[in-house]
Amino acid sequence: MAKKGDRINIILKCTECGNETYISSKNKKNDADRLELNKYCPNCKKATVHRERKK
Ligand SMILES: [Zn+2]
Repeated sequence: MAKKGDRINIILKCTECGNETYISSKNKKNDADRLELNKYCPNCKKATVHRERKK
């Protein structure tokens, strides 16, 4: 069972324009590394790599 407090809020930031597009959460034990996801950025008007930024 996952303990309370393992889930943390993260902000996903576009690596191309720096726009902080998405707020998400992850389990820091399951995803210890910095997340990188392909997401649509409304600022770039295309899918770009978004990287986790801790709050
Ligand atoms: Zn962007």
